Amino acid sequence: MLLKKHFRHYYLKYILSFLLGIAILVVIDWYQLEIPRLLKVIIDGVENLSLTSFKDIWPTVLKIIIIAVAVTIGRFLWRILLIGTSRKIETDIRQEMFKHASKLDQSFYTKEKVGGLMTYFINDLSSVRELYGFGLLMIVDGLVLGIFVLIRMFQLDYKMTLYALIPIVLMGVVIFLLNQKMEKKFKLRQDAFEEMSHFAQESFSGIAVIKAYVREASEAFGFKKKSFDVYQKSMDYMHYFVIVNIIIESIINVIVIAIIAFGSLLIARGEMSSGELTEYVSYFFTLLWPVFAISWFLSINGQAQASATRIYEFLETKPIVFDQEDVLKDICLNGEITFKNLSFKYEDSDELILKKLNFKINAGEMVGIIGRTGSGKSTIVELLLHLHNVKKGMLYFDKIDQNEIALKTLRNHLGYVPQDNFLFSETIKENINFAFDEVDEEKTINVAKLADVHVDISEFKEGYETILGERGTTISGGQKQRLSIARALIKDPVILILDDAVSAVDMHTEEAIIKNLKKLRKGQTTIFIAHRISTVKNLDKIIVIDEGEIKAIGTHKELLKTSGLYKHLANLQKLEDMIGEEISYV
Ligand code: ATP
Ligand code: MG
Repeated sequence: MLLKKHFRHYYLKYILSFLLGIAILVVIDWYQLEIPRLLKVIIDGVENLSLTSFKDIWPTVLKIIIIAVAVTIGRFLWRILLIGTSRKIETDIRQEMFKHASKLDQSFYTKEKVGGLMTYFINDLSSVRELYGFGLLMIVDGLVLGIFVLIRMFQLDYKMTLYALIPIVLMGVVIFLLNQKMEKKFKLRQDAFEEMSHFAQESFSGIAVIKAYVREASEAFGFKKKSFDVYQKSMDYMHYFVIVNIIIESIINVIVIAIIAFGSLLIARGEMSSGELTEYVSYFFTLLWPVFAISWFLSINGQAQASATRIYEFLETKPIVFDQEDVLKDICLNGEITFKNLSFKYEDSDELILKKLNFKINAGEMVGIIGRTGSGKSTIVELLLHLHNVKKGMLYFDKIDQNEIALKTLRNHLGYVPQDNFLFSETIKENINFAFDEVDEEKTINVAKLADVHVDISEFKEGYETILGERGTTISGGQKQRLSIARALIKDPVILILDDAVSAVDMHTEEAIIKNLKKLRKGQTTIFIAHRISTVKNLDKIIVIDEGEIKAIGTHKELLKTSGLYKHLANLQKLEDMIGEEISYV
């Protein structure tokens, strides 16, 4: 199928522009063939002395000029209409792809590398545009013009045309085969170029590691190899390109010479006039374009169809997490959360990551979840955000099963500070206000103060207008964490989840933030995920988790007596405090 479902729909959307473009194309292609005929009139007229002066020739010359101008304007119009529409379709498909990408789940992004996804958006989409835009235009033009020229050629001399068709078709086949090989070489050059860009990009991102390990020279050598590969592939492509052009030109010359020789014979026999031969040769030159166009279209077709299939499959990928029918949309949650015998494993793994979790967080409670690295804390957060599906009857918000709450409604109730503190390459203000389109400046400053980052921001030259580098590299890890907290606080969510959100700040700052949060979030559910005892020790309830199982639940005082693991963590913390630096407890 030339046009797949998603693309067909867009062609229908712009059908009027397409039809208009094609109509102009057909008229123009027909009229441009009048020029050889008029040339014949002049040449034959001069030869048989019916046209003797410039005054006699002038009206025909004027006609040729008018047709040439009309053809140029018409060609401009249909190209604008057809190419412009294909650009519009490309933009629409890109928009649909982006919208679709944001609907896909966490699990899709774990499997699919970002680089691979970008290939759909850049390489595949441009191949599809080339095929369905320029390619379609070439095939329509090629076929229409080709048929018109052949009609004229047959009208003029069907015998000579039959003979000429054999080398022309052969030439088409040769061009098709050469083009296919050339496309492959072009692709190899493209791949080499992408590999070199990727290498450079990674080197720039990891420049600190390269310097620390004194690997500058070896990186430069690595780059030289990639760069040389690009050079070799480019030269290979260029050589091939030049050879292909010479071969094609030679074939054309041979055919033209044959036509002229055969035509001259006909003229000598009085079976053809010089004007007719000129007209015929003009038609032959006009026929070259359709031959090129159709062969080129056929040679790019395979690769572009493969790209179209990839885009199509991507657009057909269904999210695993989506709203079931009759989900509750207009509800207000109070912040109570219940885990009932909840077990969980990731989509493509057999290992149970969470095992029979049973606990309840009352509305308004401040709860800590503490555990060693890899114990399943962030997995709990991802389940609360409904980034993965859990079976019915395992997770409740205010006694309502999570599966019965609309995703948007649930997430609107949640505030989330992610463990990796992702920030966008925008201004600090935009990052903090991320949840809203417009926010009072006062509100932004207030949450920044509560997250203890206002002083840091004020010290930046541009203050809240400071633009953060890629993934916020111009600021420290602790500053990133606190901006991330401010971003969640501005939402004033019913449930706030902080996933290891104060791990990169010092004890003093941590204390200040927790104090602020306790005051601000009084009566609102707040969940602190933590490694350190200091983060959770003053909270209402602490849940100790290890290897996906709950080991103990209680207050700091109770756990010191009842949980061996908690006591172990507490002792490690004491040791850390004593030596004044962090040590890992794993
Ligand atoms: P940390 O304190 O280091 O952040 P954590 O307690 O948050 O650790 P999780 O991120 O929840 O731990 O991971 C728990 C387990 O689940 C780990 O063994 C991890 O390898 C596994 N895991 C995490 N994400 C996935 C995933 N997308 N697919 C499969 N397994 C995963
Ligand atoms: Mg984690």
